[in-house]
Parts: sequence; C-alpha cells; structure tokens
Amino acid sequence: HHHVGNATPENVNEAIHQGNTRPAPIQWQRLADYQACGGYQLLTDCREGRVSVEQLLEELEHSGLRGLGGAGFPTFRKWQAVRAEPGPRYAVINADEGEPGTFKDRYYLEREPHGFLEGALVSAWAVEADALYIYLRDEYPGLLTVLREAIGELEAVGLVAPGYVVLRRGAGAYICGEESALIESLEGKPGKPRHRPPFVAQKGLFDRPTLVNNVETVYWIPRIHTEGADWFAGQGRHGRKGLRSFSVSGRVAKPGVHVAPAGITLSELVEEYCGGMAQGHRLLAYLPGGASGGILPASKADIPLDFDTLQEHGCFIGSAAIIVLSDQDNLAAAASNLLAFFADESCGQCTPCRVGTEKMLTLLERDTWDEATLRQLAGVMADASICGLGQAAPNPVLSLLRDFRGELAGHNLIAKG
Ligand code: SF4
Repeated sequence: HHHVGNATPENVNEAIHQGNTRPAPIQWQRLADYQACGGYQLLTDCREGRVSVEQLLEELEHSGLRGLGGAGFPTFRKWQAVRAEPGPRYAVINADEGEPGTFKDRYYLEREPHGFLEGALVSAWAVEADALYIYLRDEYPGLLTVLREAIGELEAVGLVAPGYVVLRRGAGAYICGEESALIESLEGKPGKPRHRPPFVAQKGLFDRPTLVNNVETVYWIPRIHTEGADWFAGQGRHGRKGLRSFSVSGRVAKPGVHVAPAGITLSELVEEYCGGMAQGHRLLAYLPGGASGGILPASKADIPLDFDTLQEHGCFIGSAAIIVLSDQDNLAAAASNLLAFFADESCGQCTPCRVGTEKMLTLLERDTWDEATLRQLAGVMADASICGLGQAAPNPVLSLLRDFRGELAGHNLIAKG
C-alpha cells in the first residue's frame, strides 16, 4: 500500500514552524539508482534491436494496459494507429493532471521520474517520434525542477540527444488536459479543443500524427516488460485486468494514492486500503471519477470500479479519482461547487457548454430545483458540446436526480415522494 509522502501535513507543519512555508524538497530516484535496478535496459534493448515493436505491442495487448488519463483507450491500439500514419510523427505526454481529486501522476513523477521517462522514451521510440514533448501542469512547480534535472541526467550520459525531450509548462487551464486542447497549447495557441475527426493520431501536433499518452500509462510499460504482461493482467479483481492508482480523498481515514486491483469495489478500497471511513463519518456517496464522472450512492459501493463498469449507473471512472462523501456533507452544495468549477473552466468555444454551465449553476442556486429544465439543459449539453467538459458537466446533477432523491427532498429542493 503506497501513500503520498513528501508533503505530509507533518513535514509541512514543521516547515511552517521553522518560518519556512515551502514544502520539503522532493526526494526522487536519481539516474544512477534507477539504472542500478535495471533501469533503461528496456530502452537500450529497443534501440539496439533486442526487443522489437511487435513484441512490445503483443505484451501491451496481453497486459490489458489502457489509457490511465481517463479515456481508457487500449495503449497498444493507440501505438498501432500512430504507426500506421506516415512520418514525421511526434510523441506527447499529457502531464497536465488537472481533474479535481486526481494526484496519481504527481505521485509517480515525484518518486520515479526515470521510470516515467523510460516509458515515455520507449513510446516515442515505438512510433519513431521526431521529438518527445512533456506538457506539465503549471501547479506542479517542484516537478518542473525534478523533470528538468532528470532529463539533464539523461542528456549528460547520452541516453537522449540534447533537445529531443521538450518540457513545456501549462498555464493553469483545466481544459488543456483534453488532448487536442493540449496540442493547441503546445503550438502556442489558446487551449481550445478541436473537432474530431481528424484524430490526433492522424493530425496532431503541427498537423503530424501524434501519440498522446498519460504519465501513469507510460510509467507501467517498463514494469510490464520486466514483470510480464501476465503479472499485470493478473492483478485485477471481479473479472477485471490490471492495477489502478486510485487517488482517494475525502472522508476516509487514510487518503492518498492507493495502488489497487482494477475492479475493486469502493467498500473494499475503503476497508482494505484507506483504513475505513474517517472517525465519526458514515458513507453517503462517492465520486468515482473526479468532478466529471458523476456521483454514486452508498448503496452502490459494491460495483467493480473500472472502465466500462459504471456506465449503466450513469458514471465513469476517468482517472480514478475517488472522492468519498459522508453524512456530514451536503450533496447539493457539492454539485453546485462542481458546476461552478466547470463554468469557470469552460473554454467558451461552444454555446451549450459556455452558456449551459452558467445557466445550470443559476438553476441550482434556486430554493427549489426546476427538474424538467435541468434535465432538458443537461440533454443539450451532453449532446451538443464539442468536448468532454461540456458533455460531462451535467453529470453531478443527473446523478443526484437519479440516486439521491431522498436527500434532495430532505432539503426541499424537489417534491417529496
Ligand atoms: Fe470548450 Fe466547453 Fe465546448 Fe469543450 S465543451 S470546447 S470546454 S466550450
């Protein structure tokens, strides 16, 4: 069981005590230590022809590795799609971890930046990318230093050519975590999602075929190769495959990043990994996929958490940010808060999202909810928004109307019965 460790409340408090409000410096695994345990062997084997792309594709397919940024697209298929397009090609890492409640990518970058970089470089090699871009969330300034130094170490020993890995800072926009907006931003333009098709695998960065992968997805690649596709696939539970890094926050005894089987249920996750609920709190609801993935009631704490398993409940797991709410939380207030977030972060490019999020927020602030109008608005937003932000923005409200009618009636927001 792993925990987010560097900026614990204890060492932050200690730093404040000493008149220093900066968190403790990040302790990360340096190149020499990573190499001492076999690090960069895979990359070298790939480059020197001892491991072929075909072999890796087979391993990835077998392992069941999917896009852990939230979309869940099979990794081997993404590689194949980009390889099928003519060069030159690019590889991009989405390190713009901005989904509320998600902090797993930071967890890996702070500890094992070289594990991540090796996976990223192997992916870039697999599509014969001319350059590897890393787009890092600007709210992670400590990680900017870590990555700069780690890339510097690689350049110093000749494992990458100077300038091959390009590290770029985001500018604080949630929407730039959406891959086509991220690419616009990398090109120096405002981060606005593109219409699809064409997909970024065909026409991505500078209109070239582009492989975009999440930090955690590529982090697993060297480990899957070393420990075996069967090992990774065999980690799941309730018929699911692989491991997930759950970012758990809210009313549990031990919040943090918990690496657990894909398909684990919320009850199992809380009991086995989070030390149970926080003292004095009773489970009321949980968000299985950050701000976007909807809200589930305590009565649905026994469904497997994975891609594809939550759809029938109107929810999705996304980047596996689990936010646990208790009887001491106000669900309507939580939904308003999420809508305010989406309204604030909408890029404004399309009307259903730009106007819809504002309008929905206004409707939620009324003393009584106009359910028919809320549903109609939600339908338009889901159907007619260009990207996932506008499509998913109504999810918290739809969840409450589906599964929490008693609570809403208790606050006189909808009629009783
Ligand atoms: Fe921008 Fe929202 Fe439209 Fe996405 S749905 S393109 S965030 S306005």
